[in-house]
Amino acid sequence: MMADWVPKTRLGKLVAEGKITTMSEALRSRLPLREPEIVDILLPELADEVLDVNMVQRMTDSGRRVRFAITVVVGNYDGFVGLGRLKGKEVGPAIRAAIDVAKLNMIEVKRGCGSWQCGCLTPHSLPFEVSGHAGSVVVTLKPAPRGTGLAIGDIAKSVLKMAGIKDAWGFTKGHTKTTINNSIAAFEALRKTAQVRVTQEQRDRLQIVSGPVQVHVAGISQAPLEEGAPEGEQPAEGAEAPKEE
Ligand SMILES: [Zn+2]
Repeated sequence: MMADWVPKTRLGKLVAEGKITTMSEALRSRLPLREPEIVDILLPELADEVLDVNMVQRMTDSGRRVRFAITVVVGNYDGFVGLGRLKGKEVGPAIRAAIDVAKLNMIEVKRGCGSWQCGCLTPHSLPFEVSGHAGSVVVTLKPAPRGTGLAIGDIAKSVLKMAGIKDAWGFTKGHTKTTINNSIAAFEALRKTAQVRVTQEQRDRLQIVSGPVQVHVAGISQAPLEEGAPEGEQPAEGAEAPKEE
């Protein structure tokens, strides 16, 4: 399926050419992530979950108009998570489009063992406390000892699980019934882990891991160039010529 993809952006081209082979590299390049195919190549094991489907009705001159507001989370259960929201006329296509939006919102989460009660030396939880807010909702996530599980509401739980966090305590303030704000606030809290700079001492003491524990490297076979083909030689019959930039 990826064979048909013609990248349009700089980052897309670097990924298609095999010059960027991991999601971490792609995000750290600071090049805009505008093509969901980039994420498909770099994180082929990505999972998605629909968090909310909300029917929005509006009266217009021509009658009632129904739209669906979709909120989805994507993640690899190992350090990468993205949240996507989209409105559409039909549920199915809107969900697919929201998944693409979530891929473009991918963040690399820092995990660790930040609970003083634990000290198990594996990155199963958060390295430190983080908070995020959306509307009136504030979600605070705290490191928890191994075996605690995700002691937080279901929506935030899905977001944390997708990011690969196994143990955490969550505290929510505000209008917590709003699914959308809950999910955004939890996601924004996780984004803080990505933004905070940590020292080597903290990294060692709190077992901090940025992004995945199992690094997925996109296969060389993804690159359009034939390996070992002598320079200037005609490609074999039927072989696809490398795309010009
Ligand atoms: Zn621990």
